[in-house]
Amino acid sequence: APVVRMREVSVRYGRTPVLREVNLELFDGETLGVVGASGAGKSTVARCLAGLLEPGRGTVLLDEKPLPTLRKRTTEQIAQVQYVWQEAASSFDRRRTALDQVAATAIRLRGLGPDEARREATELLTELGLTGAQLRRYPPALSGGQLQRAAVARALLARPRVLICDEVTTGLDQPLSDRILDHMDTYQRRSGASVLLISHDRHALAERADRIVAVENAQVRAINDPFGSGPVP
Ligand code: ADP
Ligand code: ADP
Repeated sequence: APVVRMREVSVRYGRTPVLREVNLELFDGETLGVVGASGAGKSTVARCLAGLLEPGRGTVLLDEKPLPTLRKRTTEQIAQVQYVWQEAASSFDRRRTALDQVAATAIRLRGLGPDEARREATELLTELGLTGAQLRRYPPALSGGQLQRAAVARALLARPRVLICDEVTTGLDQPLSDRILDHMDTYQRRSGASVLLISHDRHALAERADRIVAVENAQVRAINDPFGSGPVP
């Protein structure tokens, strides 16, 4: 059975339909790539699956049960589905260090003690290439790429079963991008988690995803040959 899925989901902003009766399943342990042009509706798919956006019609299911919106979710349900989006900077409080905020997730969502949480957060952030000095900085003093990695670390420390990554490596250079994605691979192999990778770049997805779907014309459809010259950008 799928871990999360969208069933007959329709979303419109104002009068414009962005998704029309979309069905999409994310299975245990898989990496699903989602491509599509800018504005096609990829983030809308992500936000529905993360329970951040309640679709006008249709249902989002976690373990075949309707996923409550973020506010109504249990701590466990919040930890299970984590969403990381490109605008990492805006997801951090400016007045607390990156390390504190990453550790706070492990405290709140996994009940770790403060010392253990800081130890895990430090270890993970270091593996993702942040230096000791950077860990102690406030978010405005970190670069976009550093904050993107901190956002990934924060999501991973929740130990999610579903990790939704919305253009998280966009704009990063190849080594940095590889480092993040390699780390996710490792986490996924160890935990059996499922990953949804969203990108406008289907070649980048083809290297990482087990399967790719495209969002286009308010529909989601399978892509069989990501290197082929289909109608997708
Ligand atoms: P993508 O992630 O593929 O770039 P999005 O899901 O962010 O696409 O957006 C799909 C369409 O919906 C775009 O045309 C976008 O401008 C519009 N849109 C997204 N969010 C909103 C919103 N909150 N209000 C109005 N329109 C929106
Ligand atoms: P704190 O007050 O402990 O720093 P925040 O106010 O930063 O917590 O809340 C962020 C946390 O809320 C994330 O670590 C995550 O656990 C949860 N959360 C926020 N946004 C999302 C999201 N988009 N998807 C899943 N969980 C989210």
